[in-house]
Amino acid sequence: MPLDLVGVGIGPANLSLAALASGVDGVRARFLDRAPAFHWHPGLLIDGTTLQVPFLADLVSLVDPTHPLSFLAYLRDKGRLFPFYFAERFHIPRAEYDDYCRWAVKRLPSCSFGQNVTEVRWSAAQETFEVITETETLLARNVVLGIGTEPVVPDPLKGVAHHSADYLDIRDSLLALDDVTIVGSGQSGAEVFLDLLRRRGGGLRWLTRTPAFAPMEYSKLGLEQFTPDYTRYFYDLPEPARDALVPTQWQLYKAISADTIADIQNELYNRTVGSGWPDVSLTPGVEVTAARPEKAGIELTLHHRHQGVTATVRTDAVVCATGYAERDAAALLGPLLGPRDAAGRFTVDAEFRVGLARGITGSVFAQNAERHTHGVGAPDLGLTAWRSATILNAVTGRAPHALPERTAFTTFGLVRERRRAT
Ligand SMILES: Cc1cc2nc3c(=O)[nH]c(=O)nc-3n(C[C@H](O)[C@H](O)[C@H](O)COP(=O)(O)OP(=O)(O)OC[C@H]3O[C@@H](n4cnc5c(N)ncnc54)[C@H](O)[C@@H]3O)c2cc1C
Repeated sequence: MPLDLVGVGIGPANLSLAALASGVDGVRARFLDRAPAFHWHPGLLIDGTTLQVPFLADLVSLVDPTHPLSFLAYLRDKGRLFPFYFAERFHIPRAEYDDYCRWAVKRLPSCSFGQNVTEVRWSAAQETFEVITETETLLARNVVLGIGTEPVVPDPLKGVAHHSADYLDIRDSLLALDDVTIVGSGQSGAEVFLDLLRRRGGGLRWLTRTPAFAPMEYSKLGLEQFTPDYTRYFYDLPEPARDALVPTQWQLYKAISADTIADIQNELYNRTVGSGWPDVSLTPGVEVTAARPEKAGIELTLHHRHQGVTATVRTDAVVCATGYAERDAAALLGPLLGPRDAAGRFTVDAEFRVGLARGITGSVFAQNAERHTHGVGAPDLGLTAWRSATILNAVTGRAPHALPERTAFTTFGLVRERRRAT
């Protein structure tokens, strides 16, 4: 008998779905991940770093705070509720979030690791999906892709630079060099720069294409762009409007937390006491246009966008903190995918169902692959439980999780008209 659903990938997105599904009677689900065990961005679990969202953005709480796999249940199980209460911390250490997720995985027999899914096929005869791994084939009525993202290195730096995703693995080697360059001014770039600054003191260069080392939007009303209300509004916009909007919203997700900026400025300031300016450079507005490995080190060609000038510098190593791209769902789904949108992307409906080819009666859902249809909140942990519950409600057809009608004070748009699923 086919399963009700198979989840491909176990990051926070599908782990949230596994947790919420575990409490629903009669749902037969399995979740598969190719990694040997759960680890949340292990190369960036730097001491002192925290989640960028409050702890309530755990796997379940924003849908069901009474769930046995909530963050508070984890603290109770670990005997740490009182210290947490006195700590008064809304933003927990990143390593603690990782530990919490691993605690949840141990309580979810539906989750299996070391299972690389190579293909998802549709069996018209059985009207089920076949989820194929290197060792078994699972049959399922619904599939939920939660395959996440992978690091991106800009073309000129491919093959010569590291990515910040591997930072902790390469940190010792970076500490032994004279001159290290960090490229990119999102949160990861800032964290890597700060950690190296604290450990090395100098010999650091921080470059970014954006015109400033800019703070992340974190105002109370600004954050309402990470609500189901905003997600629904964005979803209802026409495709050209959605595509025009996303690049203007970079400060919602690509910038640096104001706390990290303050930590960096403090660290730099403290280093000027009694010893002059620190041996570091921080330059915005600069793009790396070429990188040439030399006998010792790398020569970088830099172009300043607004000055229109080009220069070269020599460095011993480059760490790209240049972000991540969604993994290619088409590689798994192949001919199952239906008509694409004007830009050639697969379509996703309001309940996160991917548009499939005619005749396929089962559903494939996508988590964190729908920025083009649902907006910049797609990777945000604060929307993860809500999206999982939306999918679970669609899979079961009986809404085991009641979801709030209204989630923001802001009214997004003048009319609320549901676009038909495209
Ligand atoms: C360093 C970092 C910090 C972040 N911090 C925050 C934060 O504080 N707040 C916030 O809201 N967001 C944050 N994000 C964004 C987002 O929450 C994370 O990227 C989150 O991990 C996304 O979860 P996911 O489940 O979609 O994907 P991932 O966590 O990337 O998990 C995907 C999983 O799928 C597996 N997989 C892929 N392909 C296959 C396959 N074919 N077969 C089997 N398994 C497969 C992978 O092994 C992986 O385990 C952060 C992102 C990064 C990179």
